[in-house]
Amino acid sequence: MDARVKPGHDSESMTIIETSSAFLEKAPLERYVAPAKPSLIGLSRMQLADALGEVGVAEAQRKMRVQQLWHWIYFRGLTSFEAMSSVSKELRAALAEKFTLDRPEVVAEQISVDGTRKWLLRLPSDPDSGLPHDVECVYIPDTDRGTLCVSSQVGCTLNCSFCHTGTQRLVRNLTAGEIAGQVMVARDRLGDWPAALIPPPKGEGGERTEPGGAESDPTPPASAPLGGRPSPSGGGMRKITNIVMMGMGEPLYNLDAVRDALLIVSDGDGIGISKRRITLSTSGVVPEIERAGREIGCMLAVSLHAVRDELRNELVPLNRKYNIAALLEACRNYPGASNAKRITFEYVMLKGVNDSIEDAKALVRLLKGIPAKINLIPFNPWPRTKYECADWEQIEKFSQVVFDAGYASPVRTPRGRDILAACGQLKSATEKLTARERMALRAMAMTD
Ligand code: SAH
Ligand code: SF4
Repeated sequence: MDARVKPGHDSESMTIIETSSAFLEKAPLERYVAPAKPSLIGLSRMQLADALGEVGVAEAQRKMRVQQLWHWIYFRGLTSFEAMSSVSKELRAALAEKFTLDRPEVVAEQISVDGTRKWLLRLPSDPDSGLPHDVECVYIPDTDRGTLCVSSQVGCTLNCSFCHTGTQRLVRNLTAGEIAGQVMVARDRLGDWPAALIPPPKGEGGERTEPGGAESDPTPPASAPLGGRPSPSGGGMRKITNIVMMGMGEPLYNLDAVRDALLIVSDGDGIGISKRRITLSTSGVVPEIERAGREIGCMLAVSLHAVRDELRNELVPLNRKYNIAALLEACRNYPGASNAKRITFEYVMLKGVNDSIEDAKALVRLLKGIPAKINLIPFNPWPRTKYECADWEQIEKFSQVVFDAGYASPVRTPRGRDILAACGQLKSATEKLTARERMALRAMAMTD
């Protein structure tokens, strides 16, 4: 197994660094240096089979063993090989000798008054640079769902002028294991793995534990936790029901790892979060949009933020390479897009910059013919930013135009206001609420 992930993202984005000046992308990427004993988290079934081969499992046995491991790792959430009762003692020992089931390390946890949780996760860093590789992951419970906001990179190579993450110099792509590992860590911390009531896989056969999956599931826990709801993969009420790739980083600059991770997270024999409840947000990496749809098949969100190229060039400098027309064309061709599976257009409300009624009208004109939802995001200020959040009345007026054009208008809902109100309270209770936390809070309105 190749433990070292290729530094940098695809050749397309590397070209950007080489051929254009710093306005598109900044710092070079840091290396990923794998731990001496690699974790099995993040491996596909095929890679797991190879790992089993490394510890001497005969080829004819590997498929069945993979099924067993998959169940223990992704359905049960085990953190060690010890408890894998359907796996022989010898194999458990052989696996433990060479591999771990480690997830990203939690170095800090903040729990807000309303149940929102933020974890600071430390990932293996490059010993040459000596800089810590940290990402954040945020869980936002709600009455009918629980959303996890997941990061795809440490930092981001892009420089959107209103985004705090874009100001961070250190950048490295996360591995598939580090991305899927965020979901696993969150489930660990929330006690969100299926209850021990479910019998383990029978014998050595590695068959599905519960024939028929969710239907044969035992009764959900008596007191459903906040945000808990029935999960298609069984195990009763789940706290994490939705995933948004809206943490740090540009997911389409790390598409292979994001794809591998999301295919694991959505696998019905394991974590089992439906692809309709997974949303990937991109700033507009046009050449990768179609592939994301084809290879992952999750929901798409596009950070539009402006209706004219001149302004979008400034807010989202990647627009100089892929302009609005090219971006919308890619959206029209997004595999599976339909009225039942709409693309979300994110639009950050910046005072005096993009918040006029003219802009709102142009926005609905622009999106005509695309199965779309529009998500208006109140701008979250950060130190030394030159932007301010649009006035609330202006957001409401803007939202009304969007609403009148037939789009659901999230800021119109009482929940949107509650979220903003909750943010203020959280701030005093937890010291500081980052832009990402607010984004994550706002993201709840996205995946209904
Ligand atoms: N890189 C991806 C996903 C992460 S950012 C992207 O850009 O889409 C998730 C969302 O938060 C994006 O729509 C982004 O434009 C928005 N965002 C970034 N900074 C923000 C801020 N300070 N206030 C409000 N939204 C912000
Ligand atoms: Fe990167 Fe997205 Fe922030 Fe732009 S908005 S700098 S793409 S994380």
